[in-house]
Amino acid sequence: MANLYDLLAEGFPADRSKPAFLLSDGSQVSYAALEAGAAQVAGQIIVQGVEPGDRVALQAEKSVEGVMIYLGVLKAGAVFLPLNAAYTAAEVDYFVGDAEPKLFLKDAPAFLAQAQAAEPLAAAVPRAEEDLASLIYTSGTTGRSKGAMLSHGNLAANALALHEAWGFTPDDVLLHALPIFHVHGLFVALHSAFLSGAPMVWLAKFDDAQVISGLAHSTVMMGVPTFYTRLLANPDFTKARAQHMRLFICGSAPLLESTFAEFEARTGMRILERYGMSEAVIITSNPLAGERVPGSVGYPLPGVDLRIAGGEETGVIQIRGPSVFSAYWRMPQKTAEEFTADGYFITGDVGRRDPDGRVWISGRAKDLIISGGYNVYPKEIELLLDELAGVTESAVVGVPHPDFGEGVVAVVIGAGDEAAMIAECRCRLAPYKAPKRIVFVDELPRNAMGKVQKNLLRDRYAGLFAAGG
Ligand code: AMP
Repeated sequence: MANLYDLLAEGFPADRSKPAFLLSDGSQVSYAALEAGAAQVAGQIIVQGVEPGDRVALQAEKSVEGVMIYLGVLKAGAVFLPLNAAYTAAEVDYFVGDAEPKLFLKDAPAFLAQAQAAEPLAAAVPRAEEDLASLIYTSGTTGRSKGAMLSHGNLAANALALHEAWGFTPDDVLLHALPIFHVHGLFVALHSAFLSGAPMVWLAKFDDAQVISGLAHSTVMMGVPTFYTRLLANPDFTKARAQHMRLFICGSAPLLESTFAEFEARTGMRILERYGMSEAVIITSNPLAGERVPGSVGYPLPGVDLRIAGGEETGVIQIRGPSVFSAYWRMPQKTAEEFTADGYFITGDVGRRDPDGRVWISGRAKDLIISGGYNVYPKEIELLLDELAGVTESAVVGVPHPDFGEGVVAVVIGAGDEAAMIAECRCRLAPYKAPKRIVFVDELPRNAMGKVQKNLLRDRYAGLFAAGG
């Protein structure tokens, strides 16, 4: 049963009239309707000439029909290629040129309507574990975006591991407010719900008021750190509102320890942070039953082999395991560069493991700053800045500097006295690590998954030291 569709459908409830989606207008979409929609889509794309292995792209706003298309594409043995609806025509041109999808869908409900005429596909097209199920373009902040090739086997392994790790049951209700063009909302969230036949409170996007009311009917929420900071900023988000929930999961970007602490103070619940990426879905997770340590992303999932490059204490994280992708689409050179000779994927994230085996992430290797020949790890400075009065959050980057090669710049949400803050950093850190400038802003640029876009900050402040300042 290597077609991922079959594994997911095996989790659907025996009584297919049960809801798969609880919509904000009070209506529901049953598992029967989801299954029928997927069968129609599979039938329709086959009529349109899509063969196993062909790519089908979907660039559309989030919808139930979008999920039917995802499942229908899997069922037909084709390869699902989700694209952010916010991509411009020029960006889409690149993906289409690279992936060469057989079909490019932009309007999911219209496609479903069209598919009603097709003969529904009864049985999923058999696939081997290593056959491609989905092509996910990395958000890649440098260079060309790469298509991570995820197989049926990769996705099945991760879905089963998470189902177990996070203790999903048919009694769960998952609050789904994530986009479905990214691994988090598409694979992590959907597969968790499907494998236990659980319904989802289905929100088109994150809206704090809607999420707060959805929590009353949910048991698990998956989010990115900004979901949690936005919830906390809303006084309606109270302990009573969260009391129906058994689990809040967070990932895709680092969760600030202050957010973790504030959330616990407000709700009495400890957010479960986990770490993942497009190339491997979820890699590590804090435990469901054991201690969830703020700042740590927990332990490698069962089957994941994780090591630090060169056997160093802190260094680039390398991983091997059943969910790790096999290659970047049509980039053999890039693929070869990013795997070690013994088959580990070089994640590009810098981290360490503590004596307990927990993993701590300190940033991206490419965000490393080299100032005056010294290595500066931005996370170390960000943690210090975040503790200072008046600072909500910070992002530290290196920009060209005439004397030092790169100069350390801190971009800070908040207000304060720049010189005093720099002096404080110089007291508490080796002086070469201290920011040479601190810039105060109202917000940091983030992508759709809440990741701070340091490349944009580097561009924005590229000229800061141009005059030797
Ligand atoms: P993407 O492939 O777009 O999902 O981005 C993956 C990257 O997000 C990882 O390589 C990490 O740099 C980052 N990331 C994901 N989860 C976490 C986390 N819990 N803490 C820190 N960084 C994370």
